[in-house]
Amino acid sequence: MDLIRVKNVEKQYKNGVLALYDFSISISKGDFVFVIGPSGSGKSTFIKMLYREEKPDKGEIIVGGINVAKLKNRKVYKLRKKLGVVFQDYKLLPKLTVYENVAFALEVFALDKKFIHKQVMKVLELVGLTNKVKQYPNQLSGGEQQRVAIARAIVNGPKILICDEPTGNLDPDTSMEIMKVLENINKLGTTIVMATHDRDIVDKMKKRVILIDEGRLVKDYEKGSYYDKAN
Ligand code: ADP
Repeated sequence: MDLIRVKNVEKQYKNGVLALYDFSISISKGDFVFVIGPSGSGKSTFIKMLYREEKPDKGEIIVGGINVAKLKNRKVYKLRKKLGVVFQDYKLLPKLTVYENVAFALEVFALDKKFIHKQVMKVLELVGLTNKVKQYPNQLSGGEQQRVAIARAIVNGPKILICDEPTGNLDPDTSMEIMKVLENINKLGTTIVMATHDRDIVDKMKKRVILIDEGRLVKDYEKGSYYDKAN
């Protein structure tokens, strides 16, 4: 079953740049998909449309059964329950502890404290951070901060995890550790869509790779190396 279906999408920004056109892709439940391509090719635009940070001018975007292109502003929360998002710069709240940063994502749903505690500890264990619950973001390494961001993104149990350059600020070893965390999350059933420039990661992980170039999806490979796809 397609968890994400994008059909004939076109997106032009107000300045006239045609960021995506004739863009179609299907992503199944449980997939792990890398989105690669040169800078300015449209990767972020594609990713942002999945969580409705941007809207297409034409075409259809269905995410977890929700018609994102037609979704009203007051209904966006429905989409946000279906997917979590991880960014290159973590976007943690500096005045909250690790625990609070993750719990915050659940508290908006007014759940009871015991349930929140259980869920938060479960995801912190999954990302390997149970020994840092009381620390603040500025007391953590970059890799640890990204683990907190991942925990926060999955604490609601979303079907889909969207990652926009999650290892962009990390060294190669730390990046691979983050990839292992993401691979575990994927094995537990979460579909992952990740934009990246990191050739090593794409080569090592051997997942599906889609290449975007000048606003179009030009290649879609089941497995293989970054170089196959980029060249
Ligand atoms: P990538 O993520 O592959 O670097 P983007 O999706 O960010 O590519 O950008 C695709 C094209 O759209 C680029 O030409 C970029 O300059 C342009 N673009 C991106 N965001 C905006 C925006 N908010 N307003 C105008 N143009 C934009």
